[in-house]
Amino acid sequence: MDRIELNSLTFDELEDFIVSINEDRYRADQLFTFFHKNYGKAIKDLTVFPIRLRDKLDGMGKVNNIEIFKRLDSNIDNTKKYLYLLEDDNIVESVFMEYKHGLTACISTQVGCKMGCYFCASTKDGFVRNLSPAEMLNQVYVMEEDLNNKITNIVLMGSGEPLDNYENVLKFLEIIHHERGHNLSYRNITLSTCGIVPNIYKLAEEGIPITLSISLHSPFDEERRRIMPIGNKYSVSEILQACRYYYEKINRRITIEYTLIEGVNDREEDLLELTKILKGIKCHVNLIPLNPIKEFDYNRPSQLGIKKFKKGLNNKSIPATIRREMGGDINASCGQLRRRYSKDKR
Ligand code: SAH
Repeated sequence: MDRIELNSLTFDELEDFIVSINEDRYRADQLFTFFHKNYGKAIKDLTVFPIRLRDKLDGMGKVNNIEIFKRLDSNIDNTKKYLYLLEDDNIVESVFMEYKHGLTACISTQVGCKMGCYFCASTKDGFVRNLSPAEMLNQVYVMEEDLNNKITNIVLMGSGEPLDNYENVLKFLEIIHHERGHNLSYRNITLSTCGIVPNIYKLAEEGIPITLSISLHSPFDEERRRIMPIGNKYSVSEILQACRYYYEKINRRITIEYTLIEGVNDREEDLLELTKILKGIKCHVNLIPLNPIKEFDYNRPSQLGIKKFKKGLNNKSIPATIRREMGGDINASCGQLRRRYSKDKR
């Protein structure tokens, strides 16, 4: 029998497990706090447990741990990029960013990605595997230990497509929010998706008030398909319909991510169509200047062009901001660092 990953279990699952092995229910509470509040890494350190119980748990379960493989610090702002080594030697990356409103961790949900967006580095070596809830949690916990500080905001915007690892991501959210653990407010969490429509509806039904962020990148289906293969599966109007539903259920403004690519989606007609389709949707547009990667031979628009696009949206009463570039000096775009170091490692 495979040993169960104890720090991937939700509070309720941990209770069920403890009861199922004929131990007292309150042990689950102690275990959960040990992992998710006190950064516990090994059952042997759980000294409030009798040795008999520690041995028993060690035999039936395991604890996932990840370690820092490399950290790159920006000299411009306080941004730090973390490369983490997983137990199977895969590498994932996370980013720490300091904003006025708090300390943000941007974390990965998969090793690699299947979605194949042409401009994105995370997808270039294909998909390797899903991350477990503990592997996502540990990206936050190890960062906190390293910085000796508490993360206040989380964005699921690193490598991977969170709605393609649905069950594990949901468990991650439940655990990090739990009052016996990190106790992070759902309102401080943002999940970014390329638009897997059925799972947006599913997420809306969960009733957890996280912010949904949609990588739209073009208002036209035809253009969108040219840069995002997922566009062949779900249309822009289906995505926006799902956004309306999400807002109805969750009552939180949707973020629309729009990576500006010169000559591809920054034209007058793109702006016009975008303002049309977003009319009446409670949203906020986050404009991301393209981070060029060598496999995608396009540029970001000029600074002036980017500002003009933003103004065009604002003029139609659509709130829009330009994503501030964090850690410009260490800013190999998402996924690029991991690729470089994974290759070195091999
Ligand atoms: N799979 C999720 C999370 C991806 S990363 C999603 O698709 O939303 C977060 C954002 O960065 C997405 O909007 C993604 O499209 C964008 N992105 C990826 N590569 C980029 C690049 N090279 N330049 C600018 N934005 C990029």
